[in-house]
Amino acid sequence: MDVEGIGPNGILNLIMQTQCKFINSRSGERCNAFALESGFCFSHDPETRKEKAEAVSKGGFAPKKIKLNLSPVKITTTDDVVNVLEEIINLVRDGNLPCSNPANTIGFLCSHILKAIELSKLEQKVSIIEDIISERKNI
Ligand SMILES: [Zn+2]
Repeated sequence: MDVEGIGPNGILNLIMQTQCKFINSRSGERCNAFALESGFCFSHDPETRKEKAEAVSKGGFAPKKIKLNLSPVKITTTDDVVNVLEEIINLVRDGNLPCSNPANTIGFLCSHILKAIELSKLEQKVSIIEDIISERKNI
């Protein structure tokens, strides 16, 4: 049987994915990454050495980790989640928390804050219903 996009031996090749044959000369340990057709992983394949060097170089230009010095928060309720997300959104908005794509980050966090707000409202409704049931039991 042939699966679209995978050749007749494709599934077999996926199952039989081989381990990179690079062996660290110091430790004697074999690399655990999956091998490309060459038998080496992307990092150890002599053919992809140039791409690897470029990838490492690009990584060097990636934004450095930033120490925000924020106090630790304890998150036990949905309101706590809303507060933390709100704080992060405001840090991104005023530029104190640099990120590569602020609009995407804010949009992403807003979708999570909406979920947390919905959940918080749902919890309030359930609490009201529980109170009503409890009162009726006591009549
Ligand atoms: Zn490797």
